[in-house]
Amino acid sequence: MILLVGASASGKSVVAKKLFEKYNIKKVITYTTRAIRVGEVNNVDYHFISKEEFEFKIRNNFFIETACYNNNYYGTAYEDISKDKVIVLEPNGANVYYEKLQNQVCIIYLQASEEERKKRMELRGDSLENIQKRLQGDVEYFAFKNFKHIDYIIETENKSIDEVADIIMEYYRKRFN
Ligand code: 5GP
Repeated sequence: MILLVGASASGKSVVAKKLFEKYNIKKVITYTTRAIRVGEVNNVDYHFISKEEFEFKIRNNFFIETACYNNNYYGTAYEDISKDKVIVLEPNGANVYYEKLQNQVCIIYLQASEEERKKRMELRGDSLENIQKRLQGDVEYFAFKNFKHIDYIIETENKSIDEVADIIMEYYRKRFN
């Protein structure tokens, strides 16, 4: 599995989409309680569910891991994990995967400057308040020290999405084939 990590608007979702279009690597659709953004589609970008439903699923041992980020829950279902998929995670999730599935995952950290990420968040219509909160919080939250392991760091700002996807696939194939 390919694990994509990185701060808000570092390019994880668009790269995951490209990996599917170009290499047929399907994305694990995770669960969240956050509000749906303009342009997002339920059951495609996430399974958007209520806090009550999320807590019910936690109690029923539905998730392999869950995280709380910016006051919203995120989590992956056991049933959605399989080989040759890509998943987008925050650090705690990546650490759980690393501990549980060490030899089966490669962790790719996507990087972009704060200025570029701010621009991308504005473009995707995030509120000013949310942008500020994420830019401030992400410095600490996505610091390298919070990851138990990272396989590869890719600077996305000076590369096309295609190039980033190609670099990831080349690395993934070398590692697992
Ligand atoms: P966003 O709200 O921007 O879509 O995602 C916020 C963060 O939650 C991102 O870093 C994303 O990678 C992470 N995330 C999404 N789904 C999951 C999940 O199932 N588990 C964990 N641990 N993090 C997730």
